[in-house]
Amino acid sequence: MKILVINCGSSSLKYQLIDMENEAVLAKGLCERIGIEGSVLTHKPAGKEKLVKETPMKDHQIAIQLVLDALLDKVYGVISNVSEISAIGHRVLHAGKYYSDSIIVNEDVKKVVRDCFDLGPLHNPANLIGIEACEKAMPGVPNVAVFDTAFHQTMPEKAYMYAIPYEYYEKYDIRRYGFHGTSHRYVSKRTIEFGNLDPDNSKVIVCHLGNGGSVSAVLNGKCVDTSMGLTPLEGLVMGTRSGDIDPAVVQYIANKENKSVNEVIDILNKKSGILGISGLSSDFRDVQKAQSEGDHRADIAIEAFVYRVAKYIGAYAAAMNGVDAITFTAGVGENDADIRNAVCAYLGYLGVHIDTEKNKVRGEEREISTPDSGVKVFAIPTNEELAIARETKELL
Ligand code: AMP
Repeated sequence: MKILVINCGSSSLKYQLIDMENEAVLAKGLCERIGIEGSVLTHKPAGKEKLVKETPMKDHQIAIQLVLDALLDKVYGVISNVSEISAIGHRVLHAGKYYSDSIIVNEDVKKVVRDCFDLGPLHNPANLIGIEACEKAMPGVPNVAVFDTAFHQTMPEKAYMYAIPYEYYEKYDIRRYGFHGTSHRYVSKRTIEFGNLDPDNSKVIVCHLGNGGSVSAVLNGKCVDTSMGLTPLEGLVMGTRSGDIDPAVVQYIANKENKSVNEVIDILNKKSGILGISGLSSDFRDVQKAQSEGDHRADIAIEAFVYRVAKYIGAYAAAMNGVDAITFTAGVGENDADIRNAVCAYLGYLGVHIDTEKNKVRGEEREISTPDSGVKVFAIPTNEELAIARETKELL
């Protein structure tokens, strides 16, 4: 069984074709600048030369067709017929309060994705376009929606309710939803398996630290709290996002700079975080390089990032009345020993001890704490595409 995994952004489309017999990636690639001048497809078939094709892509329908053409290509292709694709798994950002699991797409599911456009204005429309483009290009092949919010639907009311007038929750469903759910589900499950924890008696904190970042508290395999909120802006200091701030800052900047609320939120999403503080880059490697060269603002940016992660770990240890395992994942979490060390340096009160030799790990599953550490600490690579493919297979 071969499953095509699709992740549509507003002007991009990432894909992987995975053979579920051995979970091998047969090909992966990316369409960029869809609907903009200079569209380009980069297709990487396993064990073959990559194909880079600059060609106009006026919409996602054309992009999907180009992906299928590449998968079927005589030289760069990996299948000989579209019928080899058993199903398509789509990463979809927001399912609001409606779904706590992945689901086979039908008209009701598409309506939910559409109804959540306001909650995920950048992603949900693109996700729906991707689903409809696949329906047209591969009629009869099932599409599965795997939602970023779904894993967090087990949060109790006290964790997801904002302390604002209740009518806004009733009228507009304003509450914490959480994101990166596919990653938190996959990594918390791997932590339990890899760390030999009791699935029914386990307290796991997952730190998904990438360009976007979030922390989740997972009690007995179920999410009980997470740092992102109504949108992916809340929580950690991120590459370009502020994370938690006093909401009055929005009004203050709007008044001082004569900007609209939308413009200020845009600044908090795109020009803040480690980019905003450092003034240099949203990429952790760039900012760390500047930090090591003595740049003060780069230093504060990294320190603020680390401090926020440590505060969330403390909060979630309190929420679960303890913690058995802390796991780092995503670009920074999987690869950056210095950041993991710096976060764990705050956790002495939990009895956390890191083995600095074991911590020198990149992109590999490993326990990085010492045998006498009060809490097990792991680095576990996330694999959102594989998780989407597995959930798609399970639903068939
Ligand atoms: P992601 O959003 O998960 O792809 O993560 C992207 C972030 O991970 C970027 O800010 C990168 O700087 C960071 N990152 C990726 N690889 C490394 C690495 N080897 N060391 C440190 N940071 C890394």
